[in-house]
Amino acid sequence: MRYVSTRGEAPAVAFDDVLLAGLAPDGGLYVPETWPSFSPDEIDALAGLDYGALAVRVMQPFVGEALAAPDLGAIVAESCRAFDEDIAPLKKIGDNEWLLELFHGPTLAFKDYALQFLGRMLDHVLRKRGQRATVIGATSGDTGSAAIEACRDRESIEIFILHPRGRVSEVQRRQMTTVTSANVHNVAIEGTFDDCQDLVKAMFADPAFRDRYHLSAVNSINWARIAAQIVYYFWAGAKLGAPNHAVSFSVPTGNFGNVFAAYAAVRVGLPVAQLVVASNRNDILTRFFASGRMTIGEVSATLSPSMDIQVSSNFERLLFEVFDRDGKKVAAAMKRFREKGEFAVSSGELEKARALFDAACFDDEATKRMIKQLWQETGDLVDPHTAVGIAAERAKRRDKAVPMVALATAHPAKFADAVEQATGVRPPLPERLKGLFEREERYEVLANDLRAVQDFVARRLAQRTAA
Ligand SMILES: *Cc1c(COP(=O)(O)O)cnc(C)c1O
Repeated sequence: MRYVSTRGEAPAVAFDDVLLAGLAPDGGLYVPETWPSFSPDEIDALAGLDYGALAVRVMQPFVGEALAAPDLGAIVAESCRAFDEDIAPLKKIGDNEWLLELFHGPTLAFKDYALQFLGRMLDHVLRKRGQRATVIGATSGDTGSAAIEACRDRESIEIFILHPRGRVSEVQRRQMTTVTSANVHNVAIEGTFDDCQDLVKAMFADPAFRDRYHLSAVNSINWARIAAQIVYYFWAGAKLGAPNHAVSFSVPTGNFGNVFAAYAAVRVGLPVAQLVVASNRNDILTRFFASGRMTIGEVSATLSPSMDIQVSSNFERLLFEVFDRDGKKVAAAMKRFREKGEFAVSSGELEKARALFDAACFDDEATKRMIKQLWQETGDLVDPHTAVGIAAERAKRRDKAVPMVALATAHPAKFADAVEQATGVRPPLPERLKGLFEREERYEVLANDLRAVQDFVARRLAQRTAA
């Protein structure tokens, strides 16, 4: 299996190169050169497997020759042990309506389901090559802790995570800063999330710095994350009757990574009737699916901060498919988007996307109403991201005979204030986070200044090599 760029100007490479590179050299995103395909018999055979065994079957064709089968098996088995025993429970919440709980990993959000695998695969590939890497990322909250948990104590990796000082919740900050592994370096920047992201981009754009310290990214454009996320769509599908019955999914969406994994599952053979793209007030995707025009707006802060995004980077992968894999056309659209803040697809292209996708958006008041309503109906507390997904599928569901699966992307205790505002009930901190408020924190506060951050990274790495 080889991967090509959505902008059509990069050589095809194998999974391990995609894993290390993240972004393609032409600025595009990697996608499989051809989609592998699971036959109905192969999907049928998934039904009785546990999550780990199913994950190996689903990821194998995407990994290809890059990892030997026993190595992939070992990495998956070890990753699974980082989760609760019931890794991805499926819960009934209504009439043929289900919740897929993806918050049973170390940081209680669905990003663990990709990053636990990614961290181990990255370490494996680096060690095999005799290389080391410095993972650098910016976070507005959830991604940072999931990346840190994935990379902590890995021999070949140093990880630096920048967060905006005072602008992440205390739980989110402590989930990062109380990890005291020697290879983990937390930095609080005197600035906003955008400042953090600009600093990271600037470090990657500095070739001397990038090459000297072997910078690597684990952000959501890395194909390996998509590959690991395809797994739970097959997991839920197999439980609800695939390949003989179709399933539908509703996905709380920010960067379009998670819902693109659902699309990928469809492309490789999972029978899916409908995919619902759920957004909060940041409704650029809802507007796109209504009009065929992508027009950028201002980001507003909401109760579901991991979806406070205007530019969904993974959308480029869907665009590539909608444009019949014409990389030049994708590159032109992305250039126009960068320069003018908008681009459009033809009505035929939009219809193609709308055959599978629906989209809907909900503001904070509607989100709180949904949290309260579900709690009254079922006694379940859901986090605000999850609530947006449930509201969206209830508004857009096409066929009640098809099971609808709403993805629960975070544990309600991660967003306890919002849940309490909506219901009057404060969700208790689960076992994994007990003691979080007593643990010692460790982080460096730095100015929003590229030189200061680069000097810090260089100093820390020199100390680590000397140690
Ligand atoms: C990251 C995140 C999302 C958005 O996922 P994308 O893959 O970026 O679309 C939704 N909910 C939660 C809780 C998240 O952490």
